[in-house]
Amino acid sequence: NLYFQSMSIRDLYHARASPFISLEFFPPKTELGTRNLMERMHRMTALDPLFITVTWGAGGTTAEKTLTLASLAQQTLNIPVCMHLTCTNTEKAIIDDALDRCYNAGIRNILALRGDPPIGEDWLDSQSNESPFKYAVDLVRYIKQSYGDKFCVGVAAYPEGHCEGEAEGHEQDPLKDLVYLKEKVEAGADFVITQLFYDVEKFLTFEMLFRERISQDLPLFPGLMPINSYLLFHRAAKLSHASIPPAILSRFPPEIQSDDNAVKSIGVDILIELIQEIYQRTSGRIKGFHFYTLNLEKAIAQIVSQSP
Ligand code: FAD
Repeated sequence: NLYFQSMSIRDLYHARASPFISLEFFPPKTELGTRNLMERMHRMTALDPLFITVTWGAGGTTAEKTLTLASLAQQTLNIPVCMHLTCTNTEKAIIDDALDRCYNAGIRNILALRGDPPIGEDWLDSQSNESPFKYAVDLVRYIKQSYGDKFCVGVAAYPEGHCEGEAEGHEQDPLKDLVYLKEKVEAGADFVITQLFYDVEKFLTFEMLFRERISQDLPLFPGLMPINSYLLFHRAAKLSHASIPPAILSRFPPEIQSDDNAVKSIGVDILIELIQEIYQRTSGRIKGFHFYTLNLEKAIAQIVSQSP
């Protein structure tokens, strides 16, 4: 269904009433990996995601692999694809090439991001002159100006605040980022996906602020990461600067922390409860839940099938 596949996430969102999910994948390194992932993605279409997204390596490091996976998925899965695109330290020609190739492959949704410097480097201040993009908002403006309505554009948000400046002693502050999120929405962003979080209260506070200060009805997707192992859960939360509430931590007593199956099954319960609570306490205003899959299938299939 070509028409459905080239719909914007904005329109898809408003057309669907009951709660739904969306799924993020990253491009595998090898061809075999890509083949295996395509099979898994095919199976996961049974979970009826509204859309899937494919990540992009900052600086264009995965450009070919991302474009290959995104185009393949767009053309074979019967699910609209949203490609991530980062802009800092990236020549305009790379951005133009990526956008043109997306458009030619039928992809109509782009998640416009800034990206991070490679570990150990700090190129934000010493940006190459070839890149006209400093912040994500520059990319949103560029896509809207150069491509008009050809692309539906999403942006990132941080319910607990973006971590920039932590090294210099600045605390994460959602209010600081809200100003820049507003700027991205005013530049034409059509939907918003959040960083992963486990603290529902923090998300709900953020959602209220977002509705009050930015938009009553713009699609806002909470980003969720299933808990696949105790170690990875901690690592992902730390990397994403997401806090883990004590009530969640206490569900993993020391004797089960190394039992991956037990951890996974508790993790599934936690995610189901989290989704329920968000859905109910926002009176259904939040109806789409975005999963950082890490290219894994099982936990998400369980969360979806066991959700009431
Ligand atoms: P921006 O919105 O530009 O914000 C970056 C920082 O700058 C924030 O601290 C903000 O407060 C500040 N800021 C913004 N505008 C201004 C301004 N005008 N003046 C001063 N300060 C300002 N990274 C990848 O490399 N590839 C991916 O595929 C990818 N996918 C992601 C998907 C999601 C849903 C999320 C939440 C993040 C993703 N990231 C990805 C990570 C992202 O690139 C980083 O978090 C990055 O540090 C910020 O990107 P942004 O688009 O939010 O930046």
